[in-house]
Amino acid sequence: MIKSSSRTSIIIATMMIVVIMLSMFSSFWLFRQISSMQVGPTRSELVFFMRQYEYELMRTAAHYAEAYPTPRFADSQERFDTWFNILWSRLDSIESGRLGGEAVADGFDFERLQTAIIYIDSVLYGSEAPDADTVDNVRMLFKQLIEESHQYQQDRDFLNREVALERQMKSYESYRNSLVFSVIALILGLIVAVYLYRNNKRLLDMQAGLEDRVEQRTHELMLSNISLKSEIQERYKVEEQLRNSQMIAEEAKERVEYQANFDSLTKLANRNLFEDRFSQAIARARRDGSQVALLFLDLDRFKHINDTLGHSVGDELLREASGRILNVLRESDTASRFGGDEFAVVLPDVRDPLVIEHIVGRILDELSMPYRLDGNDAFVSASIGVTIFPDDGDSTGTLLRKADSAMYKAKERGRNNFQFFTPQMDIEAHDRRKLEAALYDALEHNEFMLNYQPVFNPHTGRLVGAEALIRWYDHENGFVAPDVFIPLAEEIGLIVPIGEWVLREACRQAVRWKQTSGLPLHLAVNMSYRQFQKQDVAAMVAGVLKDTGLEPERLVLEITEGLMMADDQGIHDQLDNIRQQGVSLAIDDFGTGYSSLSYLKKFPINILKIDRSFVKDLTVDPDDDELVKGILSMAQSLKLQVVAEGVENREQEAFLVSNQCLFTQGYYYSRPLSQPDFERYLMQSAEAYRSA
Ligand code: C2E
Ligand code: MG
Ligand code: MG
Repeated sequence: MIKSSSRTSIIIATMMIVVIMLSMFSSFWLFRQISSMQVGPTRSELVFFMRQYEYELMRTAAHYAEAYPTPRFADSQERFDTWFNILWSRLDSIESGRLGGEAVADGFDFERLQTAIIYIDSVLYGSEAPDADTVDNVRMLFKQLIEESHQYQQDRDFLNREVALERQMKSYESYRNSLVFSVIALILGLIVAVYLYRNNKRLLDMQAGLEDRVEQRTHELMLSNISLKSEIQERYKVEEQLRNSQMIAEEAKERVEYQANFDSLTKLANRNLFEDRFSQAIARARRDGSQVALLFLDLDRFKHINDTLGHSVGDELLREASGRILNVLRESDTASRFGGDEFAVVLPDVRDPLVIEHIVGRILDELSMPYRLDGNDAFVSASIGVTIFPDDGDSTGTLLRKADSAMYKAKERGRNNFQFFTPQMDIEAHDRRKLEAALYDALEHNEFMLNYQPVFNPHTGRLVGAEALIRWYDHENGFVAPDVFIPLAEEIGLIVPIGEWVLREACRQAVRWKQTSGLPLHLAVNMSYRQFQKQDVAAMVAGVLKDTGLEPERLVLEITEGLMMADDQGIHDQLDNIRQQGVSLAIDDFGTGYSSLSYLKKFPINILKIDRSFVKDLTVDPDDDELVKGILSMAQSLKLQVVAEGVENREQEAFLVSNQCLFTQGYYYSRPLSQPDFERYLMQSAEAYRSA
């Protein structure tokens, strides 16, 4: 593009130079021709000068003819002499004059003239008179001179005419050439002008187009600049978000890593990290022949704290307990929390078993110190099981399992103590596992049964209701008490299906009782705290009532005080819902250990069941008398009904009757009865009431 345009400019410039040069050349040519057309004054003067000379010759010759050989007239000689003298002077002027010199230079034969004049002069004006031949010769000479002069002049004239003609021709030619040059220059100029105009127009068009494009491009650039700006801002935003999300991801990674190894609540190692450290300690002990102790620790009655003071207080206690454990340990030891109130401690590099006893003793002491929680002093102890590598096993799993068994033993031995593992514990743990398996079997094969213990109105002596109590006869272990398997079922979560089965079965029976006896007995069913935690009991109850057709008013659900103490809105809502259905709520084992009774106002409770332990020594221990009296009067003022459990004799009944206890239950009236026995008992009672 650049190359072709520069080539075009070179061509145009060259053409312009050519046009200018042609114009100049044609002007110069014309000027030169015109200037050379001027005939010089000397030339015409010369012709005139030579004409005069010819004239003089002719006059001299004419007068010669008159004067020679004899003069015709006297004066003819004189005239000849005069003209001859003129001729002489002409000769002089030719010789010395400018025009004569030019004529000689132009080819005039001056020497011949000179010779002729000298000859004539000598023969005519000599001493002797000229003879006839001489006269003839002179005449011939004059004639020849005249002819020569004439010829010369003619030549000059012709030459002059030719020159003039030639000049005229040349000047025409010059005009023509100049005209041609001018026309060519004009055409070239026109071509250049047209080209320049077109080129200019093209350039103008191009410029306009370019300006349009520039404007459009500028607009586009502005737009793209704006969008670039917003894109850059967007990019900054995205980068910011990316940084944030990277930070979050980093934090999440750290959190995940932390969570993978640490317990978020207590900041102790978790099971993962524990196993890691324990394996390392075992590997080291293998190398240097030392021992590793594993402590398995469970807080005693922690569940109780959790149930009564709420989970947040329970968490606080766990944190505090963790700190206390750490305080006792050495740097090389590892304390970890397995979940709940279970802790495990690794004591590596043990050389003396007494060191273990010392550390474990100190942990127990530290943990049993009072805890200041939520403004109250709480007391918690711990039970610890201890196993030692390599004596009790050589794998983490085995040592943990055995330490767990030892810990259970410590609990059995009255808590707040520790037990080293013994092989006997293994056997017991094994039994426990067997029982666990049997419990699953029992549920699957429908091995549970219900007993019903009658509830009376001691004032009328009439049967008013019954409490359903679960029974399990295991074909291998024989009769297993509910106090044994219910906590186990709670622990392993089986209480949910078992509890639902109990409720459904009991309600079914209660419906039958009314059909067979006509007595609308109340049915009390025990509910576990775990059920409320793991399912919506209210919905479950509603379903069972609907399925069995039992009137809600005849159903009493027995719950424990612990449920009330739990700081759990979900459970509160369930209890409200149950009461709204018309079902009664009773506090079972009322009075066993809780100082705060404010829950009685907060929760929709309508029945209290005084615990057997208070009834047992009624009329024997005045303290219990006062206590039961107090419960009864409080219940009265709170408009709560009271059932006294574990009534075994008449004195107890009499005391309760005299203190306005409305309902009683116990061996004094009846032990829990199997379904057929209870039905028989029911029929007899109905019969008796009818006949009364
Ligand atoms: P509980 O609800 O307080 O039941 C009363 C317990 O006292 C029953 O023991 C009963 O046999 C016993 N008992 C009744 N009258 C007397 C008496 O006069 N003297 C003495 N010494 N004992 C008496 P059982 O049946 O062994 O039940 C023990 C506990 O097991 C029950 O205490 C209850 O908490 C729990 N339990 C029983 N059945 C179920 C059940 O179906 N579900 C749940 N969650 N717990 C149950
Ligand atoms: Mg009960
Ligand atoms: Mg009870």
